[in-house]
Amino acid sequence: MNECIFCKIINGEIPAEVVYNGANVTAFRDINPVAPVHVLIVPNRHVNDIRDERAFEGDLLKEMFQVANEVAEMEGIAESGYRLLINYGRDANLVVPHLHLHLIGGRPLGPMVARR
Ligand code: AMP
Ligand code: ZN
Repeated sequence: MNECIFCKIINGEIPAEVVYNGANVTAFRDINPVAPVHVLIVPNRHVNDIRDERAFEGDLLKEMFQVANEVAEMEGIAESGYRLLINYGRDANLVVPHLHLHLIGGRPLGPMVARR
């Protein structure tokens, strides 16, 4: 049984605000957004994270970034700018173990990472 929360969203078992639904990639709004636009771009097939070799099969990563650019256009932030990021591991606070690309924008985002 697949208990992965993002697989459940892709399969329609858990509700989400889907903004893009393709053959290989799905994009939906983050449930706890950090900015006016916060969308997660995920592979439809389960991939654990960016260190999972399945991430590098075919054109998956390329397609995820292309979808991110498309969603940025749809959301009206292509001109103002946005941040694309992938977390991995403890220091980056990776929480959900299904590969996801964050698309964040709609306000000035400040420095890439807080200095402390
Ligand atoms: P990360 O720290 O990179 O693993 O980010 C996981 C992201 O998934 C967080 O920004 C969460 O707010 C988001 N998230 C967790 N559960 C859901 C959900 N059911 N629907 C949408 N976003 C979610
Ligand atoms: Zn999954």
